[in-house]
Amino acid sequence: MIGVGMNLEQFANFIHDYAQRLEALKDTLNELDNRIGDGDHGTNMARGFHTAQQQLQAKSPEDLGAACNVVAMALLGSVGGASGPLYGTIFMKLGGALKNLAQADIEQLIEGLQAAKTGIIERGKAQFGDKTMLDVWEPTLEYVTAHSCDEELLQAVMVARIAALETRDRVAKKGRAAYLGPRSAGTCDPGSVSSGLFFEVLISAWRGGVETIPWETLVL
Ligand code: ADP
Ligand code: MG
Repeated sequence: MIGVGMNLEQFANFIHDYAQRLEALKDTLNELDNRIGDGDHGTNMARGFHTAQQQLQAKSPEDLGAACNVVAMALLGSVGGASGPLYGTIFMKLGGALKNLAQADIEQLIEGLQAAKTGIIERGKAQFGDKTMLDVWEPTLEYVTAHSCDEELLQAVMVARIAALETRDRVAKKGRAAYLGPRSAGTCDPGSVSSGLFFEVLISAWRGGVETIPWETLVL
């Protein structure tokens, strides 16, 4: 693939934009988590990525691997609950794949995201369909791996969006929502929504031209 990739500046923009969008979506994510969990997913994510962004600015890492590690450490240090270790693992694995790179091409990024997905599974032991963030990671990465040319990449945002919304009707098998059993159906999984937003903002940082998804109105 030519032209699509990510350098340090784009990575910093990604973290900055993701932190901002999470702050704006905080109440919505908390409301989803309130319905099927303990109501803190928005607060957790907004706090974690705000800290990550500040740490990135303060430490000015020199390559993508180091930048991912700064984000991972910030998330592990500032977010409790399930999502801190899970998103921390995502950036730790991504950092391993992008070690010493000032710039990554699409293949390297996809390799890093695959490693991140494997990390989510190793840590959380969830399967696709369990109503966790994996329900978004699995189909979105499958799509991105098969369709990594520039134009098609844009469609990956749509895949992530649909995948997040499809968690609504599922019964949770992992995480706090699983305690509700069948009563967990009817609400979108908050971690799937924050992951859908992750892919929206990430792909926007890769290649631009991504239309903003109105998550607030779609998920509530
Ligand atoms: P907590 O559940 O500890 O309060 P958060 O509310 O921040 O943590 O995050 C909840 C989200 O974490 C869920 O919506 C789900 O997507 C994700 N999650 C929970 N458990 C798992 C797991 N075992 N594997 C993958 N993702 C999980
Ligand atoms: Mg919670």
